[in-house]
Amino acid sequence: MDLKVSKFGGSSLADAEQFKKVYNIIKADDARRYVVPSAPGKRFSGDTKVTDMLYECYERSAEGASFEELFNKITERYNGIISDLGLDMDLSDEYEVIRSAFRVKAGRDYAASRGEYLNGKILAKYLGYDFIDAADVVFFNASGTFDSAATYDMLGEVLKQHERAVIPGFYGSMPNDTIKTFSRGGSDITGSIVARAVNADLYENWTDVSGFLMADPRIIDSPRSIDYITYHELRELSYMGATVLHEEAVFPVRKVGIPINIRNTNKPEEKGTMIVTEVPASIEKGHITGIAGKKGFSVVIIEKDMMNNELGFGRRVLLAFEKNGISFEHLPSGIDTMSVVVSTKALENKKEQLLKEIKDLVEPDHIYVENGLALIAVVGRGMVRTKGTASKIFTAISDNDINIKMIDQGSSELNIIIGVAEDDFEKAMKAIYAQFK
Ligand code: ASP
Repeated sequence: MDLKVSKFGGSSLADAEQFKKVYNIIKADDARRYVVPSAPGKRFSGDTKVTDMLYECYERSAEGASFEELFNKITERYNGIISDLGLDMDLSDEYEVIRSAFRVKAGRDYAASRGEYLNGKILAKYLGYDFIDAADVVFFNASGTFDSAATYDMLGEVLKQHERAVIPGFYGSMPNDTIKTFSRGGSDITGSIVARAVNADLYENWTDVSGFLMADPRIIDSPRSIDYITYHELRELSYMGATVLHEEAVFPVRKVGIPINIRNTNKPEEKGTMIVTEVPASIEKGHITGIAGKKGFSVVIIEKDMMNNELGFGRRVLLAFEKNGISFEHLPSGIDTMSVVVSTKALENKKEQLLKEIKDLVEPDHIYVENGLALIAVVGRGMVRTKGTASKIFTAISDNDINIKMIDQGSSELNIIIGVAEDDFEKAMKAIYAQFK
């Protein structure tokens, strides 16, 4: 039998109605043996996530202010779910432990982690699954980084003894037994870790969208959804701002080739997006996978005759960036020009010093900065085999009277990145999408 690890996000477990959908999904497939929940998320726009309420409670207790009223709102949310589901369950003792811990200021991460902990208790009871506290099986080093070796050993061993279990997401414990969380949205990471520890056939990540879309729906009208995407392509698109999954969630499963399936709890009949190492040949279509982009970039342009003959030129330019703590995004260069693309924010308050250092280090003929650049990445493994992708992009852009300010194609032929003026960004995205939809 296949083995699936299923992670459910905050909106999938925001109230009893959502819990019922999750129940039906899990009971529909016997392979869904390990379940990783987030804390209850927003029930409607304008609502507050339980995690945010817990952070707020912590801030109040740390300042010595009263947090009781807010804490009661949290317990009301859980009690509401319990009673709406008709569960025979009372979490009063748990609430009391948490309340006392708040009083002695048990820590910000401890506070936040209780959202997943309590939700996990309820979900385990509702499903009839065992509950495993993540603090006993997910470990961090004393420095606060994830301890993969200790975690995989322990999780693998413990889960062997539980046929079906709920393991709350987002947190684990430190060597001194205090609670530590991953960064926000980190239940995605826990799900991936559990999938790796039990060597699952599939890691399902259930959320409120049916996977990744080919382009940002705020710019493109009803873009097509992506059926299959490789881990590599996903990295490229996420870097440009396409977010559905926590960035770090791909690493544990990617190493051992476990695919991730992004699914929609509210539309379980849709197949969602499969994230895989390699797309099966029978499914390959050859067109591009997605388009993503961002505004807010600047280019530092350095010109000097015969630059190409000057040994160490590039290294010295980049040294100036490094010394100023600015990391660069792209480096499209010509024979006598070098351009360094950085985020405009990274240049803030550092521009004068940076330019001075570059001047001292390489004595350029000209050096100047252009702001207001937007980058668009056209990503697709299919580019390697399909001719004419670049020409389609550039025709689309020039037919729309848009000036291309920069072009960068990685040698892996996985993406083409173009720079346009920020004012042309939306128009360029639409023009490119129209060529590939
Ligand atoms: N509840 C946590 C957050 O809101 C973690 C998660 O949902 O993945 O960030």
